[in-house]
Amino acid sequence: AKRLSGQRRAQRFEQRMLDEVHDRMVLVSELRAGVERGELRLYAQSIVDRKRRVIGKEALIRWQHSTRGLIPPDEFIPIAEQTGLITQIGDWVLERACQVLAHWAASEATDELTLAVNLSERQLHADGFEDRVREVISRYGIARGRLKFELTESVLHSDLARTISLLEHLRADGVHASLDDFGTGYSSLNYLRRLPVQQLKIDRSFVSSIVEDDRTAAIAETIVRLARIFGLQVVGEGVETEEQFALLHALGVDAFQGYLFGGPEPIEAPAIAG
Ligand code: C2E
Ligand code: MG
Ligand code: MG
Ligand code: MG
Repeated sequence: AKRLSGQRRAQRFEQRMLDEVHDRMVLVSELRAGVERGELRLYAQSIVDRKRRVIGKEALIRWQHSTRGLIPPDEFIPIAEQTGLITQIGDWVLERACQVLAHWAASEATDELTLAVNLSERQLHADGFEDRVREVISRYGIARGRLKFELTESVLHSDLARTISLLEHLRADGVHASLDDFGTGYSSLNYLRRLPVQQLKIDRSFVSSIVEDDRTAAIAETIVRLARIFGLQVVGEGVETEEQFALLHALGVDAFQGYLFGGPEPIEAPAIAG
């Protein structure tokens, strides 16, 4: 095959870079407009207990794009984080989640369900975050323990003292926190000891190979033991098969989430004013 000259290659590389920058700029402006136009949607996935009863749900955002269809969070949340749009998006998720909880509270079948909201590091540290949480839960009259937050281990990298105090204040207001995707990040056990979270979620990547791989099963077992020592609840994420469920159940996992019990579905709760 004929090789491209150095100059041609440089030109192609430059064009690709320009295309990427352009695509990204289009996405950012479309996202900004989409948020304004109300194109965000909140989906929810069930979390079940050891007897497979639904005890709560996790709120998962999607973007209903006018021409590109439903866009998953991994395709726009990172960009929202980089551009700061995450604050606005996060406020919308929080507002909508509290609307949903208020709607659930009105019915006996759903009044004890919890709803977990994913938070990015940037949201957590945004000015006034704590006050906004307090304001929205009081405006919707959310009972203690119903609203939860999920954070990843990345929060351990930033101002730990500040994160700890924030989580302590939230807990005092009846909002508990989970460490999401646990085991995939770099988490010092010493930091974990200091972090006021009430739950660990074993990452899906461990659950997916737990049946075939003894070493993965050993990791899951260790996470469960660690959780016991720290007095934390453990949730298994991404449970897709009965075998995975049985194994996690035998290890003592408290709650489960995954396609075996249902995937994310649009939330059936009308928008209500707070
Ligand atoms: P996550 O919080 O770890 O959420 C779990 C992800 O795993 C979801 O992907 C869910 O649909 C998927 N999942 C659940 N069960 C299974 C299963 O059995 N098998 C497989 N293969 N996948 C399963 P999703 O909805 O695409 O969300 C991806 C990530 O986007 C979330 O990971 C979370 O980090 C982030 N995210 C979602 N909503 C929000 C939000 O409102 N705010 C922020 N900051 N991040 C969000
Ligand atoms: Mg999560
Ligand atoms: Mg997760
Ligand atoms: Mg994740």
